[in-house]
Amino acid sequence: MRAISYERATDVASAVRAAQQPGAVFIGGGTNLLDLMKGGVAHPVKLIDITRIGGLDSIDTRPGGGLRIGALVRNSDAANHALVRTRYPLLSQALLAGASAQLRNMATVGGNLMQRTRCAYFYDPAFDQCNKRNPGSGCAAIGGHNLGGHNRMHAILGASPQCVAVNPSDMSVALAALDAVVLVSGPSGERQIPFASFHRLPGDRPDLDTTLDPGELITAVDLPPPRFADHAHYLKVRDRASYAFALVSVAAALQMDGHTVKEARIALGGVAHKPLRATAAEQRLEGNAFKVPLAQRAIVRCVKRAAGQIGDFA
Ligand code: SF4
Repeated sequence: MRAISYERATDVASAVRAAQQPGAVFIGGGTNLLDLMKGGVAHPVKLIDITRIGGLDSIDTRPGGGLRIGALVRNSDAANHALVRTRYPLLSQALLAGASAQLRNMATVGGNLMQRTRCAYFYDPAFDQCNKRNPGSGCAAIGGHNLGGHNRMHAILGASPQCVAVNPSDMSVALAALDAVVLVSGPSGERQIPFASFHRLPGDRPDLDTTLDPGELITAVDLPPPRFADHAHYLKVRDRASYAFALVSVAAALQMDGHTVKEARIALGGVAHKPLRATAAEQRLEGNAFKVPLAQRAIVRCVKRAAGQIGDFA
């Protein structure tokens, strides 16, 4: 049995102070951390309970029209908040696509940002090879074990020879598309991290999921003033209709002028170690909306012709 100490933080400063102890971790909803501990994947020596810290569980408008979502806001509360539903429907849809209702009722926004990959080899200590769980041990998903690696849920972009895991968060895909900013507090003070810089690609340090410094605590997520409330959609492709992680997901947010795309934001989930913005696709869409259905129809026509189902001049 491993001894674990427990401390209930009363404010951000005391939480950050407590986190200076090696092996200390913050716990909010605990929906991922407790699974990892029970599975023998995570071995914290100290849990710092942040759920009683005041002021981190509210959703507030910001000067200029943005929205600040506290790190302790529950996923279900964020998804169903009137301002999120009406001004940032993309975020609401993504949150509701994640996990189950019970988990969403417990999980916090900050914890959602910190959830770890669902790579099966990472979750099963019976597999020795996992650079994320045990740096330098290899990667079973790439093919290091005698089954050759089962990796259909793994990365197709931005992977490294060290790790091909993907980030499992639906919420983060929407936040990437919306250009959110993560607010953190740490031993060196407060800072703001643009969402694109918050999660990292695996490189040669797949044990690190984010760019947080040791002991830094997420306090809130800021959303810029809403510009995509009227044209936004989160699509999650998965093996089951609910309670399954994405094979691929897409968050799309558009500003339209009639049938023309004025501005586009597209982010992909399930394909990389972090949510990825499809910036090339965004640029191609802007001003060329007609080309989207045209390209789709052209692909169908081309494939049909290649298959001999239509003639040369169809
Ligand atoms: Fe571990 Fe990453 Fe390999 Fe999965 S893909 S086994 S998380 S190193």
